[in-house]
Amino acid sequence: MIIDSHAHLEMERFDEDRENVIKRAVDSGIEIILSVGNAEPEKGSMEKAIELSEKYDFIYTSVGIHPHDAKIFNDKYLHKIIDYCDNPNVIAIGEIGLDFYYDLSPRDAQRGVFRDLLIMAKEKKKPIIIHSRDANRETEEILKEYYKDNEVGGILHCFSGDLKLAEEGINLGLYISFSGVITFKKAEDLRDIARKLDRKWILVETDSPYLAPHPYRGKRNEPSYVIEVAKKLAEVRGESFEEVAKYTSLNFRKLFKM
Ligand SMILES: [Zn+2]
Ligand SMILES: [Zn+2]
Repeated sequence: MIIDSHAHLEMERFDEDRENVIKRAVDSGIEIILSVGNAEPEKGSMEKAIELSEKYDFIYTSVGIHPHDAKIFNDKYLHKIIDYCDNPNVIAIGEIGLDFYYDLSPRDAQRGVFRDLLIMAKEKKKPIIIHSRDANRETEEILKEYYKDNEVGGILHCFSGDLKLAEEGINLGLYISFSGVITFKKAEDLRDIARKLDRKWILVETDSPYLAPHPYRGKRNEPSYVIEVAKKLAEVRGESFEEVAKYTSLNFRKLFKM
């Protein structure tokens, strides 16, 4: 059994065959999917994700505003997120963070939303799911200022930062989640980081429908492909697939107290 710690199953790209995708995940031995509900906030992704988590008992969700959407953040979204936190299927706040690679929202807006939602997550005692791209030091600084002494931890999802960010994150109680990127030819630096981390802090995810791992690269990703991520991680770290599947699942359950 294995857990996909980050997918976006509510997205339109799954509208045609969502049930089959979920069935394939179950048939492949995926025991839990954290289907993060903020890919398309203007299309109601939070609501759709919550609905999905209510339909399947092994699907959980989270609510937040992606750094790409920081520019549309307003009180309406803040209050929605606060309200949805009371739903037992909403197990985290996220994804939130900084994306200075795409820069789809002004950086100041990204920083502002990140800070606001970190403060809220801390108050609500919800773990956080962080998206950080090309913003290693800035992510670290904001986390250190607004999320130190948190009691619940979280995830640095689809990790693509440097070793320092991974280590600083772990010091703050954040797990490091590896995605299909670890299977990409050019990701040698990332594989080096994966070799060095203590297994106590490692998770695996698909981030589907994005970032399908080799040999599916370029196709739509789906939770069952998390197996390819775990296989690569096992190869890189000199462990068996079964070991990786087991400890990443235990880590996930520890974080979310399941
Ligand atoms: Zn992300
Ligand atoms: Zn995501």
